[in-house]
Amino acid sequence: MAVFSVRSTLNRFGVERNIGKVSVVEHPLVAAKLSILRAKTTTPEEFRHNVRELSILLLGEASRTWTTSPIELETPLTKCAGQILSRPIVLVPILRAGLGMLDGMLRLVPGASVGHIGIYRDEETLRPVTYFSRLPTNLSEAQIVLVDPMLATGNSACEAVAVLKAQGAKRIQFLCLVACPPGIAQLQSTHPDVSIFTAAIDPELNNVGYIVPGLGDAGDRYFGTG
Ligand code: URA
Repeated sequence: MAVFSVRSTLNRFGVERNIGKVSVVEHPLVAAKLSILRAKTTTPEEFRHNVRELSILLLGEASRTWTTSPIELETPLTKCAGQILSRPIVLVPILRAGLGMLDGMLRLVPGASVGHIGIYRDEETLRPVTYFSRLPTNLSEAQIVLVDPMLATGNSACEAVAVLKAQGAKRIQFLCLVACPPGIAQLQSTHPDVSIFTAAIDPELNNVGYIVPGLGDAGDRYFGTG
């Protein structure tokens, strides 16, 4: 996994920031699966399958920092020391596209609670507006993983983090499939305590808010609504 400071990553693209870190998960399987997602010929079925598997790989990296507590257990042969996760895990997809990443992540952490946050962009103010939020009550204790496949402008991610923090969240990781410099800069300048994990950082955000080269509209491709 490559962990870049924002300065060293974003300078390649001309963005002047030096706050926090973004982790790009460098792994042959991640690269291969992301390439399948990018291809416009990929069917919704293949797209779903690969989003699921890519989410598992990304969560595997993000979870490296989670803390464990020692336990004693017995194998069929003898007592031995083991470990359990110290904190409850809360997965929070941002609706709608974040839902696609949930299935894979729940396979890895089947005991996790799941919160949901729905956000739309107000066409007049252009500001993100939360229209739905249903979250577990233990956010202040939990390790939270906020997920959205595309970190584009960063506005939805910032709003979702603000919603989580308002309910007591203290440990938040943000997982996405593709990020871009403006989105990273926006999220890390607003919430420098939130670490970002992504399969790739693409160079551009176009004038209608799509990441280029990206993979198109992640929600439409996952749900077959494009
Ligand atoms: N949302 C998407 O689904 N794709 C993008 O490229 C940007 C935002």
